[in-house]
Amino acid sequence: MSVPLVLVHGGAGDVPEDRRERHARGCLEAARAGGAVLAAGGSAVEAAVAAVRVLEDDPVYNAGRGCALTRDGHVSLDAAVMDGATLDVGAVAVLPPFRNPIAVAHALLREPEVLLAGPEAGRWAEAHGFEPVAEDELITDAVRARLAEALREGRARNFAGGTVGAVARDVEGRLAAATSTGGTMGKAPGRIGDSPVVGAGTYACAEAAVSATGDGESFLRSVFAARLADAVAAGADPAAELRRRLEEARDRYAGLGGAILLTPEGPPLRAWTSRGMSHGWWSPEDEGCGI
Ligand code: ASP
Repeated sequence: MSVPLVLVHGGAGDVPEDRRERHARGCLEAARAGGAVLAAGGSAVEAAVAAVRVLEDDPVYNAGRGCALTRDGHVSLDAAVMDGATLDVGAVAVLPPFRNPIAVAHALLREPEVLLAGPEAGRWAEAHGFEPVAEDELITDAVRARLAEALREGRARNFAGGTVGAVARDVEGRLAAATSTGGTMGKAPGRIGDSPVVGAGTYACAEAAVSATGDGESFLRSVFAARLADAVAAGADPAAELRRRLEEARDRYAGLGGAILLTPEGPPLRAWTSRGMSHGWWSPEDEGCGI
């Protein structure tokens, strides 16, 4: 028997002072939602997906409603979930507007395909009972304003902050990881970040579950999540390894960000090289949040 645990992040980045409390509280609510699934006997996968759904529904985060936009002002969603017990993966990239991309990724989890992209991913989702939504349902005024600002300031490649992710451990010690995002603000149409790419922004195996956030290109190039999980599986100290890999992504691959990490027995681990990373966790023993 393991102590069940859900740990979530609400994105690496610099959240303005007046919104910090709200960002952190939202993470705690999401962790509690995942915790309720575990308390009812649900699996780590179900808990991680439930937590991410809560954050997708909350417009302050860059996923689902409130997601970042391409430079031409469109929604293009990335999401993935991985079951550490079976090593199954379900992922979608460049998904057209759906309310909960993580639910589509979850539906793909036991299918032979790992990653579906673009309009075909949207058609697959529709064929499997998901309803597409009008793009305007996901786009908020705040996001439009931030896109205009990013394009004006030429910061289009910078990560947006607010990507969401969860790692969970169920009573049997099984691990899962899930991540969902609109990607970087002002990204090129067709761009795929680290979040839906297994081993880059999302990874889970028997020994570790990881969800990353930040400069996706550096996490892709450094194969961040899989390398971190492999090192932990090989016996590295999880907290030290998490920090070391983030510093490597910063110093060798030129990207800032953060990540959350769970192991079969250990505490909820989180670290970042960015200005901050909102996060929250729940277990029957304690809960909390921060940024
Ligand atoms: N990692 C995400 C991406 O590059 C962005 C983020 O985490 O804010 O798509």
